[in-house]
Amino acid sequence: MVRKLIAGNWKMNGSVSFASELVGGLLTRIEQEDVSADFVVCPPAALLGSVLALTKNTKLSVGGQDCHENVSGAHTGDTSAELLKNVGCQYVLTGHSERRTDHGESNADVRAKSKAALNAGLVPIICIGETESERVSGNTLKVIEEQVVQSLPDEADPNQIVLAYEPVWAIGTGKTATPDDVAEVHNFIRGLLVSRFGDEPAQKINILYGGSVKPSNAAELLAVSNVDGALVGGASLKVEDFWAIGVR
Ligand code: PGA
Repeated sequence: MVRKLIAGNWKMNGSVSFASELVGGLLTRIEQEDVSADFVVCPPAALLGSVLALTKNTKLSVGGQDCHENVSGAHTGDTSAELLKNVGCQYVLTGHSERRTDHGESNADVRAKSKAALNAGLVPIICIGETESERVSGNTLKVIEEQVVQSLPDEADPNQIVLAYEPVWAIGTGKTATPDDVAEVHNFIRGLLVSRFGDEPAQKINILYGGSVKPSNAAELLAVSNVDGALVGGASLKVEDFWAIGVR
């Protein structure tokens, strides 16, 4: 079993003072407790500088929420994986459902971004998940297989990637998949990774669950087989909640 990874996706939330309070609270707890999980925060791009200054030489890792597939160039408003690495990030989210929906990102885009992340020395947290209509029509596993196969770059190194299963209908809605549903999809994803990388390497890949994870459901979800951590949105904005999800 791999060490659990608890990732906080702040989305488009926060401010300089919010960041300093939240990161300060997390760091105090990380220093005081013998923590059995790794924590990473993914603030909006404009706050990366503040958060990286606060987390320098600490056990709290930092990730971007997206990256461009190119190393540099005329791409106004975008951030390259190289630059994220250069400023001190260790992770980057790729293919979050809000990027897929708001920015029309396809599996091919996610693959290119994940490849850029790997080339830059970042760990991509590659997000996948079915929509409500895909689940209702019985296509969940088909969609997941397509997303895994098409979003993982050829260069994917099992020591350098994380997957996050986030059913789109569970994100920010308060609805969570049942432990049985989560187990079915996570076991299926593990099977796909085993076919691709072989048994031992595939077991080292963290597969996170995301979608309305909060302190009250975290223990149950994190106990499901093949759930190696959580990708947390709303509840990552409160230090007590985010901490309680990863530490109990
Ligand atoms: P949520 O978001 O925890 O607010 O549902 C999860 C995510 O989008 O990563």
